[in-house]
Amino acid sequence: MKILILGGTTQASILAQHLAGEGCHDVLLSFAGRTANPVLPPVPCRVGGFGGVDGLIRFLGDKRIEALVDATHPFAAQMSRNAVDAARAINLPLLRLQRPAWEKCEGDIWSEVPDMRAAAHALGPVPRRVFLPIGKLEISAFSIAPQHDYLIRAVDSFAPPPELDRVRIVTARGPFAVEDELRLMKDARIEIVVSKNSGAGATAAKIVAARRLGILVIMVARPALPEAQTVATVEAARDWIENQHTDISVLRGE
Ligand code: NAP
Repeated sequence: MKILILGGTTQASILAQHLAGEGCHDVLLSFAGRTANPVLPPVPCRVGGFGGVDGLIRFLGDKRIEALVDATHPFAAQMSRNAVDAARAINLPLLRLQRPAWEKCEGDIWSEVPDMRAAAHALGPVPRRVFLPIGKLEISAFSIAPQHDYLIRAVDSFAPPPELDRVRIVTARGPFAVEDELRLMKDARIEIVVSKNSGAGATAAKIVAARRLGILVIMVARPALPEAQTVATVEAARDWIENQHTDISVLRGE
């Protein structure tokens, strides 16, 4: 089967490698191209946008894709919406692979907010030392709160908005260990962590570290997405693909 996997997450890369390793599927893993030096797994990959829903539909047709797996990050809402619209338009099987969101545990001090702008407001008027391990895309939301000292973590370095002059940027790529997160937060005397509720294992260490240090986490909820058949694990995605494969083989009379 020809499968396009919309990637940019660890799960997407693991799924692509499993499927390619099995040898019975023709897998293509797609990246947006946001980072300067992406870690491309040893499977066929492509990089860059498709050109909206119409571009995606064209791409799917040109490549004769038979199943689409949206394994993008839960905050990559535009890509997920495009995937649903394109799959509907051409009646293509679509699966969303998405980890469940993190749930608040005993010891967590969370303030849950709907988006990054609300997170910036929730920091309050008093200057704080804030850890922003949220990448670069949404940093401009914090321009409304320039009174705080920010420690930003992103994969690549970048110029922060000019309004934010009390900023330090650390570049790093996950997965992160709890001990390292504890050290980083202690050394920077962090008082508040802002986090997207990605639910990913690779970035959960900051939540554990904040719990241990008794630090407030402002947890940004996931954006709403259109309905799609969804699984939480790579194993479940592989099962879905095998079922699609069987259905297609029956249709072809194989
Ligand atoms: P987005 O806002 O949902 O997507 C914006 C546009 O980027 C899409 O319309 C599409 O362009 C292109 N695009 C996004 N993902 C793509 C993919 N996997 N392959 C090809 N084109 C893609 O996405 P985003 O939030 O900027 O995230 C971009 C990528 O980074 C995603 O692959 C995501 O999995 C990964 N990522 C995002 C976050 C996050 O917090 N947002 C965190 C970790 C990883 P066209 O309309 O031209 O097709």
